[in-house]
Amino acid sequence: MENLCRIDDETTYKRSYSNDENIYPFRQLPELGKKRKIVLLGATGSVGESTLRVIREHSDRLELAGIAAGRRAKELDAIALEFDVDETSLYSREGSDGLERLATLPDADIVLVATTGTVALRAVLAALAAGKDVAIANKETLVVAGHIVMAAEQLSEGRIFPVDSEHNAIFQCLEGNRTHGKIRRLLLTASGGAFRDRSAEELKYVTVEDALQHPNWSMGPKITVDSATMANKGLEMMEAGWLFGVSHNKIDVVIHPQSIVHSMVEFCDNSIIAQMSRPSMTFAIQHALMYPERSNGIHESLDFTQALSLDFRPPDEERFPCLRLAREAMVEGGINPLVFNAANEAAVEAFMNKRLSFIDIPNLISDTLEQISGRLPDDVDDLIEFEASVNVHAAEIIQNNY
Ligand code: MG
Repeated sequence: MENLCRIDDETTYKRSYSNDENIYPFRQLPELGKKRKIVLLGATGSVGESTLRVIREHSDRLELAGIAAGRRAKELDAIALEFDVDETSLYSREGSDGLERLATLPDADIVLVATTGTVALRAVLAALAAGKDVAIANKETLVVAGHIVMAAEQLSEGRIFPVDSEHNAIFQCLEGNRTHGKIRRLLLTASGGAFRDRSAEELKYVTVEDALQHPNWSMGPKITVDSATMANKGLEMMEAGWLFGVSHNKIDVVIHPQSIVHSMVEFCDNSIIAQMSRPSMTFAIQHALMYPERSNGIHESLDFTQALSLDFRPPDEERFPCLRLAREAMVEGGINPLVFNAANEAAVEAFMNKRLSFIDIPNLISDTLEQISGRLPDDVDDLIEFEASVNVHAAEIIQNNY
């Protein structure tokens, strides 16, 4: 008789179990003790900067082999000089080809993707095809093209490592556990963003400047606005579904204002395992780049000689409808996650340009989701073209109706 707890999982997608024991992580571990050569796509952004701190601190184990940035040529040159990197690409000039060239450098072991949007999608696929590991800090690649990227990972010698703090925390919570049928739910924690405690009435009048004041994390402007609307957490739910192969009804969000518990996993026996550290991206970047080894952290450890309170509460989907819309898009599947993401990008751009109010961001996403139907392309070119057309469509709705 089967007396071990077991949860039926209805997900259509599963990461393959290459070991009979179903112990996470499923695939081969990277070689121990080896100096890892890193290609960093998005070197001049916020995650890029934290990655450089990690590499600087652990130069005995990590080495920069290539760097790419969108526009900031001077900063890119400065990084190349400091880390003695020959291979660089300014992809506003070189386009996606420059990213692909770097992602497949014969020297590289792991490609860290810290670009925005889906600009690095082809590079991620090229890296996997070349057998490289990919450390992914970018949500859109999986939200938009999870079906293509995860299929490419199955065929690759390389593996995908999560760098987004919540997903890296979940990875750490799952490590060494038998997972198949044992995960009750993933609990993604959320700071609640800049407007966590604002009333629905107050949210009508918030400005771009207000939205860019994040309480705990220092990030780029797009993701800071996404954090304020909680669209970011919605994208993270979709991302978690792909990374860990769990179905949408097993991914929940919990508000945790201190941002110390970075996420949790509940198993079928009701045990919850949480990962904690001070809020800094370096813990996740370092874990992904050094895995399966550990080395001294950059930020200070938690101080338990002082009182420390950790609060948790459910999210308010009435005040933050982006979270509900994201959940619905995830449940619907197909093109909906892509449409959610593309409409949100158009909405945030309009909000930053003061063309759209904060509370109209979810309204625009909802309108776009209602107006667009179709089948999700399996071909990368078709997918990118479709994504661009949704973005244009969303911008037109703003033009005509807002
Ligand atoms: Mg995150």
